[in-house]
Formats: sequence, C-alpha cells, structure tokens
Amino acid sequence: MPAALVTGASRGIGRAIAERFAHDGFDVAVNYVQSAQQARTVADDIGTRTDSEAVAVRADVSDAEEAEELVDATVEAFGCLDHVVNNAGIDQHVFTEDLSPADFDRVMDTNVNGAFNVTKAALGELRESEISPTPSVTNVSSILAYTGAPIECHYAASKAGLLGLTKSHAKDFAPKIRVNAIAPGHVETDMTADRSAEEKEEEMEAIPLEAFGQPADIANAAAYLRDAGFVTGETLNVNGGELMR
Ligand code: NAP
Repeated sequence: MPAALVTGASRGIGRAIAERFAHDGFDVAVNYVQSAQQARTVADDIGTRTDSEAVAVRADVSDAEEAEELVDATVEAFGCLDHVVNNAGIDQHVFTEDLSPADFDRVMDTNVNGAFNVTKAALGELRESEISPTPSVTNVSSILAYTGAPIECHYAASKAGLLGLTKSHAKDFAPKIRVNAIAPGHVETDMTADRSAEEKEEEMEAIPLEAFGQPADIANAAAYLRDAGFVTGETLNVNGGELMR
C-alpha cells in the first residue's frame, strides 16, 4: 500500500488530512509534537475504521534531526513514502512592538523551516516512489500569506515564505515530484477557537459563502493536489471566497 506522512496530524486540519488519505487507501504517519494521546487516538481510529495502517510519530519538525527521524520511522513502518503534507504550524497573536525575536524565530522555525526540514529528509524516498501520478509534497500556507495580519506578522511572513518554498521546490524537484500549497481561510480548529464572538462576526461578514471552513474542506484540497498529476507550483485557495485571486 502507498504511504503518506502528515505533519501536525494529532488534531485539526492535519487530523482530517490523515483520515482522508487513509480513507483513500494510504498508510499514514500521524506526526505530532506534544499531543501523544491524541495522535495515538487518530492512528487507532484509522486502523479501526479503514483498511489502512497508521502510526503516531513524535517529532518536532523545526529540528532537522527529528525531521529525519520522522521520515525514517515512516519508511520503517510502511516500507515507502509517496506523499508528504507539511501541515504542522503554530500561531501567536502579538503586536510587533511586543514580539520578541525568539518568538519570531519560533514561528518561522516551525512553519517554514519545519516544511523545509521534512521535505529535505523525505526527498530520497519520494524520488524512489513509483506511485502514479507522481509523488507530491503539499505545504499548508494561509490566506494571511497574501493579506498580512497586524497582530501576527511572523505568522503571515512564515506563510508567505511557504509559498516561495513551494514554487522553488516545484521547479527544483520536477519532473519527479510535484510540490503545491493550500492557502486556507478561517477554519474551525483549536487555532481559531479563541476568537471572540465579535471577531468571528466581523470575519464572517467578509466571507461570501457565509461559513467558516471545516478541516474536511482542507482535506479535500489536499486529496485533490495529491492526485492532480499535471499540477505543480500551484496554491489552492480554500477560503469561502474571502479572497479571490
Ligand atoms: P491546530 O489545531 O493548532 O494543530 C496544529 C498541529 O500542528 C498539531 O497537530 C500540533 O501538534 C502540530 N505542531 C505544532 N508544532 C509542531 C512542531 N514543532 N512539530 C510537529 N508538529 C507540530 O492547527 P490547525 O488549525 O489544524 O492548523 C493546521 C495548519 O493549517 C497550520 O499550518 C496552520 O497554520 C494552517 N492554517 C490554519 C488555519 C485555520 O483557520 N485553522 C487557516 C490557515 C492556515 P501537537 O498537537 O502535538 O501540538
């Protein structure tokens, strides 16, 4: 069976992507950094509800050595690696005046360096993959890559960085490996759970489809890009029409 690695899959969007890939016939490595019990539950549920296998693998993607160990553990479990989804990410709401260089680095290290580390570690295995259509890397960016955000400049910068990484890697790794991105709008997960009712109302007014996204909406996009054999270097915007590009 082909295999996929989804970073940050213990909850939220990553969990939905891992479940979708398993449903579609892929064994899945469920990466996490802190939520061991949640990641094990995701893996167990996949094992119970699908014909796929899943393993929960702890690794801090911002650490290059741990990213290599993550890929090694995936290949050890399944014997191959065909698709990578760089979904792990962190956010922090703070104005620039109060943002420390250490916090700036922490967000960049996780969101950009993490994707770089895992992709680099996976390259050898992806190049050996015989899957059709070709193997792929999908990076989860954000609508804020285009719009910016006053209280999360480091997050927006990291997500814009991911788009540059995506296009560069798409050229670099062609024709063997496709590399694409997804730029979600507001999706209902732990990351957005702390918004006040007023903030949510204001955000909703900007969304033509009058709804926030669900993790499954992003999983649909990830499944599309996984199977889209003639698409590389592209960003799929999944935002209810909030930003039409
Ligand atoms: P979430 O619910 O906060 O989940 C984040 C996931 O990332 C968790 O599985 C977490 O693992 C993992 N993670 C964090 N730091 C990590 C690290 N250093 N190494 C490995 N895993 C790490 O977030 P989400 O809303 O599902 O977001 C998923 C992705 O979508 C992120 O890249 C986010 O920026 C992006 N996104 C989200 C939205 C939104 O509205 N929710 C919009 C645009 C883009 P633990 O559970 O172990 O901590």
